[in-house]
Amino acid sequence: MSLLQKKSLSDLNVQGKKVIMRVDFNVPLDKDTGTIPDDTRIKAALPSIQYLLVHGAKLILVSHLGRPKGFDPAQSMAPAAKRLGELLGKEIILAKDVIGEDAKGKAALLKEGEILMLENVRYHKEETANDRSFAKELASLAEVYVNDAFGTSHRAHASTFGLAKFLPSAAGFLVQKELDVMVAALAAPERPFTAIIGGAKVSDKIGVLENLLDKVDNLLIGGAMAYTFYAAQGWETGTSPIEADKQEVALSILEKAKAKGVNLILPQDNVVSDDFAPGAASKIVPANQFDPAWMGMDIGPQTVANFASVIKNSRTVIWNGPMGVFEFPVFAEGTRKIAAAVAESGATSIIGGGDSASALEQLGYAE
Ligand code: AMP
Repeated sequence: MSLLQKKSLSDLNVQGKKVIMRVDFNVPLDKDTGTIPDDTRIKAALPSIQYLLVHGAKLILVSHLGRPKGFDPAQSMAPAAKRLGELLGKEIILAKDVIGEDAKGKAALLKEGEILMLENVRYHKEETANDRSFAKELASLAEVYVNDAFGTSHRAHASTFGLAKFLPSAAGFLVQKELDVMVAALAAPERPFTAIIGGAKVSDKIGVLENLLDKVDNLLIGGAMAYTFYAAQGWETGTSPIEADKQEVALSILEKAKAKGVNLILPQDNVVSDDFAPGAASKIVPANQFDPAWMGMDIGPQTVANFASVIKNSRTVIWNGPMGVFEFPVFAEGTRKIAAAVAESGATSIIGGGDSASALEQLGYAE
């Protein structure tokens, strides 16, 4: 099914029905005051919420917040429910659990136009494990499922992927809007069209890389996956995490890029370290001059400058995967500078993938 054919909220009959909607209320919390300094994500869900209320749904909202390991009152949905109540001018019923007695009891009593907010769905480890019976339990609370959590939709979790297996489902307006923007941008991209692909593994992104070769003018490859491309050409990669069984694919991608006239650029220099640790010793080395005992952790300054100049001249940019081990601040520079280049380019940019999104949030470029 193409993205354009995705079922939308307005295709559903929700009158009098219990609708469970996955929202992304993963908002920042001020620990001292228990307030939410930035409620953008809650506001982004209002069009779908208001539509459902006006059309007589009994609305159950489910979201995650942070990364709790089990029940944790510090990561309760209560502040988000309170803020939503203020924005809507109505009471939000808060369940004390997700699929427990309290949630079930409150869901059963829900009336048309009322909203029940479940507790943090990640109180259950079954959520991220995409556990089928957990998804089934969650689904049993409602009759219809709507996904309006654009920021988490790429993850196959119980409340995103799992619920859709058990209930008639549709995309909410926020998801629909984002998809429309993407489909329009990618159907007829303004050129030059540049893809930046990074992250851990070639194997995760072979399909994406192959597909992009038919579309883009420039393909910039960073992150650990670049080293598999190095290895494929017989270059030294030290102790970098390469995928030996993907070298053939990497070579074929290099050849296809050449044949199709795609400007595929690998890092010309890298930041390498002697240990996979935030405080490890590091130095910058040109490609093909890796010390056998060191590993690549980030793209180097020349690569940053080169990638940035390509990005600056682009009209459409898509980006998936960080340029280095951005979780360690010393190795986040490449990702940070590429984010700055994308932000400053004025190009239509689409940035996808969980880690790319976290990297941008961590580095302050989410907007
Ligand atoms: P992905 O989910 O495929 O986009 O990969 C994201 C992960 O790739 C992040 O956790 C990064 O730390 C990791 N990564 C990026 N560059 C490197 C590298 N040079 N060495 C090891 N891991 C890397």
